Formats: sequence, structure tokens, C-alpha cells
Amino acid sequence: MADTIQLEIVTPDRLVVNDTAEYIEIPGKTGHLGVLPGHAPLITELAVGEISYRTGSQTKRLSVAWGFAEVLQTKVTILAETAEKAEEIDVARAQAAKQRAEEELKKAGPTGNPEAQDALARASTRLEVAAKK
Ligand code: ATP
Repeated sequence: MADTIQLEIVTPDRLVVNDTAEYIEIPGKTGHLGVLPGHAPLITELAVGEISYRTGSQTKRLSVAWGFAEVLQTKVTILAETAEKAEEIDVARAQAAKQRAEEELKKAGPTGNPEAQDALARASTRLEVAAKK
């Protein structure tokens, strides 16, 4: 059996990653999914979160939001609405987005604001991923 997985991460704008990995961790809507070569095929919905993968001695990280992951035995394809590699994340922009979302949530009070909640999740994930760079 192959000991690596081909990983492709695609957004509507671009091919973000085309790499080989020994292990991939995916933020599924129902929880984190760890994928090793030979994993049973499945399709899962993505949440907002971090994708990390091990390639040789390196662990690479990305922030992703929404979409789908298709897992095959030797290939994983991620179709995400947005995806940024850790080194591509603009920290000041994410901090500003986080602050805006927090202010919106404060204004909304107990009725909530799902859009601001999602924006907060994206900004917080971007900051977490960038901090691990
Ligand atoms: P903002 O309010 O700063 O635009 P957002 O969460 O609303 O943040 P998205 O709609 O998720 O932004 O993304 C729009 C585009 O901008 C996508 O291509 C995404 O990859 C990119 N993007 C968003 N925030 C950042 C960031 N902090 N660093 C780099 N790229 C970003």
C-alpha cells in the first residue's frame, strides 16, 4: 500500500495546495478527522478550522472555511470556500475582522448574529493558524 496521500486543496479562486502527505487532519462538521494512507473512502462537510498535514519532517497548516472533503485511499481533495496557508494570513486583517465581529455580536445581544458568529470563527482560526507558523 502507498505510504503517502496526494492532497489537493482548491477554492473557487485557486489551487492552494498540491502536495503529498503522510497524515492529514481535517476539520469536519462533526469533528476532527485524521487521515492516514489507506483510509476508507468518505465525503464529509468542512467546518471552519485548521487543516494540518505532515509531509516529511514538516507539519504544514492552513485555515479553511466551509466546503467538502473527499477522502480516498491515496488521495484527499478539499473543496473549500476559502483557504489560506499559514504564511499567507494577514494577521492585522484577521485581528480587525475579529474586532468587528465581536462588536457586532455585542450589539446583537441575546438574539445573536449568525453572520458575525461565522466571521468571528474565521478570524479566530486565521489568528490561531498564523500564530503556529
Ligand atoms: P474580511 O472581513 O477581512 O474580508 P472575511 O472572513 O469576511 O474577512 P472571507 O470572506 O472569509 O473574509 O474571505 C474573502 C477572501 O479573503 C478569501 O479569498 C480569503 O482567503 C481572503 N482572506 C480573508 N481574510 C484573510 C486574511 N486575514 N489573510 C489572508 N487572506 C484573507
